[in-house]
Parts: sequence; C-alpha cells; structure tokens
Amino acid sequence: MARYTDPVCRLCRREGMKLFLKGAKCFTDKCPIEKRNFAPGQHGKDRKAKIVGYGLQLREKQKTKRIYFTQEGQFRNYFEKAARSKGVTGELLLQQLERRLDNVVYRMGLGSSRRQARQLVRHGHVAVNGRKVNIPSYEVSVGEEIAIREGSLKLAILEQAKEFASHQNAPTWLEIDRDNYKGRVLSLPKREDINQPVNEQLIVELYSK
Ligand code: SF4
Repeated sequence: MARYTDPVCRLCRREGMKLFLKGAKCFTDKCPIEKRNFAPGQHGKDRKAKIVGYGLQLREKQKTKRIYFTQEGQFRNYFEKAARSKGVTGELLLQQLERRLDNVVYRMGLGSSRRQARQLVRHGHVAVNGRKVNIPSYEVSVGEEIAIREGSLKLAILEQAKEFASHQNAPTWLEIDRDNYKGRVLSLPKREDINQPVNEQLIVELYSK
C-alpha cells in the first residue's frame, strides 16, 4: 500500500488549514501555515478559485483522510461499513476513525501526534488488555485497556508526549492514567467528542454519488 512520505506540513498547506500533524511544532510560529498559507508547489499562490460542489466534497474527504493518516481504500471501507450500519453514516464514519488504536494512543497523550502514536503501535510498544497489538488500524472497544508495554516505559518520547498532552483537553470517552502511560475506553466516542474541523456530511454526499 502506498504510504505518504513527503513532509506532512504540505498536507496542511494543501488544505489551507492546520491539521495538527506534527505535535508541538503546530503550536509555534515555526508552523508553515503561519507564514505560507497557500497551496504547495510552483503555482500554489495562484490557486485562489473558490471551491464548490464536488471539489468541496473531495477536499473534505482528503482532509479527513490526512488527519487520521488513512489510505483511500481503507477510508472507503470505513465509509461502506458505516453506511451498512444503523445510525448516522457520517458520525459512524468518524467514530470508526476515532477508534483506531493509533488515534486512541494519540488521544491518550502517549504520542504527541498521530504519526508518532502510529510509530509506537507499529514498533510494538503498545498493548491492549495486556497483549501486544502492532496494528495501527486496530479498532478499540469499550472496556479495553490500552497501555505502553513494560519494556518500553523508558522511551524518551513518552515523557515529551506527556508534557505536550498536559496542555491538551483529555477526551471524556477515555479514562487516562498519564503517570502510568495507560488508559481505558469508557464509551464509544460521540460526535460531540470528536473535535475535528470536518463536515462529514460532505464525505457522505461524495461517496453516495
Ligand atoms: Fe500542519 Fe503542524 Fe506543519 Fe503547521 S506545523 S503545517 S499545523 S503539521
């Protein structure tokens, strides 16, 4: 599966807004959006046309994929599963994205960005209910305990992430024990718990064409 390896700040510039993909840097004046808030590339500055209709729906989908670092096929699968389930499709789509293990690790403050959280999972530093899980897309369930594995507790990035997370709001659907680098899923996230700048209805309209 193709993986995005270019500088992630380009993704924010393409969407014309901060997607908060780089942890602490996003909150400093080093953030490129502060200085160069126009699309990347040679003609980035010239692209000023107002986006409407299909273009708007497409950008919303791209933005959401980029926030959660998912690929097109996987994102489409999330949508199809949401569309088959009972409930509001857009909300169910976002709920699935929020339940990804890499996102939960990030929300718990174990990584200072989703990308860093994903690395922690990939490299086998995370356990769910005491068992190593190294699949970033693993979908957490209510009651599950997510923790940094004992042999990984000395990682320097954990301390940095904890400091970063202390300035962020903790999600109410997770119980977080920051000192012991672990937490528990108390409930499934509701729409109001997901504070992303996303209009999920536009994504539903795009895929329903
Ligand atoms: Fe986006 Fe953060 Fe880079 Fe700013 S520093 S452009 S918010 S990833």
